[in-house]
Amino acid sequence: MADTVFGRIIRGEFPCHKVYEDDKVLAFLDINPLSDGHTLVIPKEAAETMDQLSDESAAALGRVLPRLCRAVIAATGAREYNLLQNNGRGAHQAVAHLHFHIIPKPNHREGLGIGWPARILDRDAAAALAKKIAAAIK
Ligand code: AMP
Repeated sequence: MADTVFGRIIRGEFPCHKVYEDDKVLAFLDINPLSDGHTLVIPKEAAETMDQLSDESAAALGRVLPRLCRAVIAATGAREYNLLQNNGRGAHQAVAHLHFHIIPKPNHREGLGIGWPARILDRDAAAALAKKIAAAIK
């Protein structure tokens, strides 16, 4: 995996506004926040996307994410928020080191805006696809 700005932050070569750190996870404020309290949560493991992450780092992230969400809403007073995690350039991932965004949604103007081009699920195609995905789980 190519080195990224987040790798440099983990190694202490680049500054950040740190809010949390343990042996597997680091969290810091996003440099271009969508709202006050916009926080990034990253594994220290050098994984680019979620499908590449080890179970150990995934567990460490999962354990701490709710606590960090509680801290962000307590500190900002925003009661609503989005958790966002992009995988791949085409899916809006700009930094090639896996990260979760915690983005407070204090009002309709600030925070995350989402396009959601939903379709109708075809029942037969869905049954086949669900089986295919289930069979691919390792
Ligand atoms: P994504 O589009 O999901 O890859 O989001 C990458 C995020 O990283 C963006 O919201 C950027 O503002 C943020 N970002 C990039 N460089 C830094 C940095 N040095 N410190 C904090 N946040 C950063």
